[in-house]
Amino acid sequence: MVELPELSRFNRIVVKVGSSLLVDRAAGALKQAWLDALVEDVAALHGRGADVLVVSSGAIALGRTMLGLPKGALKLEDSQAAAAVGQIALARAWSQALHARDIVAGQVLLTLNDTEERRRYLNARETLSRLAAMRAIPVINENDTVATNEIRYGDNDRLAARVATMASADLLILLSDIEGLYSAPPKDDPDAKLIPLVERVTPAIEAIAGGAASELSRGGMRTKIEAARIATQAGTHMVIADGRVAHPIARVAAGAPCTWFLSPSTPMQARKVWIGGALETKGAITIDAGAAKALARGKSLLPAGVTRVEGVFSRGDCVTIRDEYGAEIGRGLIAYDALHAEQIRGRNSRDIAGLLGTPGRAEMIHRDDMALAGL
Ligand code: GLU
Repeated sequence: MVELPELSRFNRIVVKVGSSLLVDRAAGALKQAWLDALVEDVAALHGRGADVLVVSSGAIALGRTMLGLPKGALKLEDSQAAAAVGQIALARAWSQALHARDIVAGQVLLTLNDTEERRRYLNARETLSRLAAMRAIPVINENDTVATNEIRYGDNDRLAARVATMASADLLILLSDIEGLYSAPPKDDPDAKLIPLVERVTPAIEAIAGGAASELSRGGMRTKIEAARIATQAGTHMVIADGRVAHPIARVAAGAPCTWFLSPSTPMQARKVWIGGALETKGAITIDAGAAKALARGKSLLPAGVTRVEGVFSRGDCVTIRDEYGAEIGRGLIAYDALHAEQIRGRNSRDIAGLLGTPGRAEMIHRDDMALAGL
């Protein structure tokens, strides 16, 4: 029997909060006491050194009350208007609650394009990483006001999973209005049992997740299983836990009933497999012997070690890395487009701003963005 992981072993944690937890359904108001207790849990993770990212729903639920919109399904334009109004209140609530624990919050609003298009993905990833380095907590939501029906997540379960993979988080906690995944929908089947551990998201697991969603939150169990698939493929473990109680994260740490979804790899391994195997390359970079040695020791590739740039590629594209004899030694996501890479080739990183007219990354290919053959 595989053991359930301890919460204390995770270092970068995405916490997803559903609308129905944060917003009182009858009053349409924020549940302040619940939020304060949750933030205490978040502050405890942050305090022991973990990076925490919050994905919070609730903009539409808050905004519709503030605008006096009727109950029931909203037209897209109305939910976008509601999100515009509610998001300010939502961000303020998080910012104040975190501030009370001496934590700085930052708001990040994402669209589907920001996580699916390579260059925007890299930018968003970089921003999240800077916020983590500054020990600030991003409070993330979908940018509902501009997302159109065809190109939106629509549910924050899958958004949270993509954020987790983008941030290379090792854990995603989905706080929900249910304790976890049951063997059958508990409403219909009194014998339904909570499944504590899912070692792999199989079609059989997908099949037992019904499609139901409540009025306030869009995602039912189906989007949660989809989130589990996205997260675990990218090296992120996931847990679905009951958020309807005070201190839900502390309770998971204490062994409260929940469902764990395990990933067979780490975010770094999964990322390297993805870079090394799945991407077509748009060009090639030839490096000198010194740089090849540095790469083998786990260093990043600096412009100084690059002797040749071939192909037409953009920042964020995958390129082949060749040694001085032309043999492929790896692949990586390059931080410069082909024109700029050629301009800074062979030069010291200190000269980048002078050569290009704008400051850029010191590395041509960062070691986290690189998969070396045989390593
Ligand atoms: N982005 C939506 C909101 O903040 C929530 C989507 C969801 O419930 O998953 O209102």
